[in-house]
Amino acid sequence: MKQNLYEKLAAVLGQEKVLAEEPMKKHTTFRVGGPADLFVMPSSEEEVKAAAAICDEEKVPYYIVGNGSNLLVSDKGYRGVIIQLYKEMSRIRVEDNVIYAQAGASLAKIANTALESSLTGFEFAAGIPGTIGGACVMNAGAYGGEMKDVLLEVRVMTSDGEVIVLPKEKLELGYRTSVIAKEGYIVLEAAIELRPGEQETIRTYMEELREKRTSKQPLEYPSAGSTFKRPEGYFAGKLIQDAGLRGFQVGGAQVSEKHCGFVINAHEATAADIVSLMDQVSGRVREQFGVVLEPEVKKLGEF
Ligand code: FAD
Repeated sequence: MKQNLYEKLAAVLGQEKVLAEEPMKKHTTFRVGGPADLFVMPSSEEEVKAAAAICDEEKVPYYIVGNGSNLLVSDKGYRGVIIQLYKEMSRIRVEDNVIYAQAGASLAKIANTALESSLTGFEFAAGIPGTIGGACVMNAGAYGGEMKDVLLEVRVMTSDGEVIVLPKEKLELGYRTSVIAKEGYIVLEAAIELRPGEQETIRTYMEELREKRTSKQPLEYPSAGSTFKRPEGYFAGKLIQDAGLRGFQVGGAQVSEKHCGFVINAHEATAADIVSLMDQVSGRVREQFGVVLEPEVKKLGEF
């Protein structure tokens, strides 16, 4: 059946865009994760629709990824098809104050487009290393801004293959959540509404935020950013630090010394190391402070 699935996908997407036994560590910023049975890289909405339909026909599960910057994939990998919406689907166009970006466009590239077009409001997202697709799902945010503030509408595909446009009011954007995540929609394109601004002011602010990130975050190590969500009334990093867990290690995984909210892949960590470390960290924080830390990072595969 797997051969049949491969052939059907390759017939639609072309062989070069269908990879078998693809190591997920190559596609996640944690740099961990075993092989996906199949890994496909569609380059149009039609190809996304066809790939999902083929998986449904063959009764094989599929999972959408962008840049894998909020993803922890099991060491055993993923039994099914990974549909990656990234560089192959990353066109950006500007119409007046609105930037239309295909799901795979990186936030950094969109921020640069905004800068070149003297549009302000997207500076907060410039340093988040994800795609706009992943950012819509997660309602990504930083430094007082979030996707909720700038999204005008999002084109998504439903599980029946229907393409619909969801205006901002229907996106149900909350803290690291959206209707897209709840319904399992696939983001195809986002419209981002910004305001005219001064190019130099935008550049300076982007630079300021970049410096903040570099000085505070362990960007020199692979990670998935903040590992845990911010518990109401607390900061995850501060609780972890106060629990005496700065630098705490399990195998190759470590609580960053620079920022305790980040679990880093310090040295050839496995997904099992990371999960074990996360479990121990949340256990200790719950014991000491009675606060439950919920993972922000999405787990994929068998753990
Ligand atoms: P992925 O990790 O590939 O996927 C995340 C989720 O979105 C998965 O459930 C996936 O199925 C789904 N998804 C992805 N694309 C689509 C699509 N097109 N359609 C449907 N579902 C999709 N996040 C913040 O919010 N703020 C920060 O400041 C921040 N800083 C970070 C710093 C570092 C160093 C790192 C490594 C990560 C950081 N993150 C931050 C986390 C991460 O970058 C964001 O959550 C980002 O939005 C994820 O985008 P992605 O394309 O990598 O998604």
